[in-house]
Amino acid sequence: METRELFSLALGVQEPWYVASIDFSPEKRELDIALDFRRGGVFACPECGTAGCKAYDSEERRWRHLNFFQYTTVLRARVPRVDCGKCGKRMVEVPWARPGSGFTLLFEALVMAMAAHMPMAAVARLVGEHDTRLWRVVTHYVDTARAERDDSEVSRVGMDETAARRGHDYISLFVDLDGPRVLFATEGRSAATVAAFADDLKVHGGDPNAVTEACLDMSPAFIKGVGQSLPNASITFDKFHLKKIITDAVDRTRRAERHDFPELKGMRYALLRNEETMNDEQLEFTSTILLRKPTMKTARAFHLKLAFDELYSMPTPTAARRYLTRWCNWAVRSRVPAMIEAAKTIRRHFEGVLRWFTSHITNGILEGINSLVQAAKAKARGYRSTRNLITMTYLIAGRLDLNQTHLR
Ligand SMILES: [Zn+2]
Repeated sequence: METRELFSLALGVQEPWYVASIDFSPEKRELDIALDFRRGGVFACPECGTAGCKAYDSEERRWRHLNFFQYTTVLRARVPRVDCGKCGKRMVEVPWARPGSGFTLLFEALVMAMAAHMPMAAVARLVGEHDTRLWRVVTHYVDTARAERDDSEVSRVGMDETAARRGHDYISLFVDLDGPRVLFATEGRSAATVAAFADDLKVHGGDPNAVTEACLDMSPAFIKGVGQSLPNASITFDKFHLKKIITDAVDRTRRAERHDFPELKGMRYALLRNEETMNDEQLEFTSTILLRKPTMKTARAFHLKLAFDELYSMPTPTAARRYLTRWCNWAVRSRVPAMIEAAKTIRRHFEGVLRWFTSHITNGILEGINSLVQAAKAKARGYRSTRNLITMTYLIAGRLDLNQTHLR
């Protein structure tokens, strides 16, 4: 078998296309493969699909292909234009690349496979292309896959914000809690972002009125947005956010008091952790010292925190309501300013806190997605644009169908 036939097979080139020549340049470390079509070869009109169109004229094109070993490989071909008689002169589609791309489909498939697992700058270095060109490829496939997504079953969503670049900007993430998958990511963190999500849902066959449960933190913007754009959704305040409000209150109390009680120094983590993850010293500290010092505000705050954790083991919504009412009363009488403030916040959001006992939804999955996004961002040392960060979020956490249909 001669070399050209071998390359035809390796590239999967089909009639009327054939490998016309192969030029190997050791100096440039480049393999240049010229493809051509047979005389009299016919093509389909890319517009209407009419088959059997003869070439009218042609234009030279080149595509970066997968390396053959360490050699940069380039395909070249004169690509015919056809005139089907209805659509005007149109450049035909070649089987190895999508229209307008300077890469072959196999090269793009490789980029997509790598992009999901490593920073784009590293992909760019590996394949020797500028990352702007690679971002264009990733964006194309992500957008195509998103366009085909079906959101008709979406009924329980979670929303959260994550820092975009350098912490100045934010993107809001909207997640299908039953996927779980990122449905929508957009710049900003206002009520309008929830409206934008509702619009995006409609575009993908979903119905904002069919969303019955929403999980969020106590951000007034999101609360307002849900009220306006997801009118049938009951709000559940995320229990991880609630626990954070309580532990923050404990920490503020400790900091205000640490000069009066030197034993509080170095015990920050003992007070913030769950008992299961404390070491012996921390357990000893929380179980004895705090109990013996009822005048210490930190001790009272810590007890309130332990009691708040207990809320989530209440067996029924009714029991939880009774328990939370008592907890709030206890906290506002505690004379611990940070705890009084936390209790008032919880009272203002009472029904949404208790909704968990019916919905059982949390934004735990969003925390995971957030850390993936932040880790990818850190590795990439900036994404050049928030748009790229959003594209990467969809790629990592969107559960998109990036199968052979899209990569042909
Ligand atoms: Zn046509």
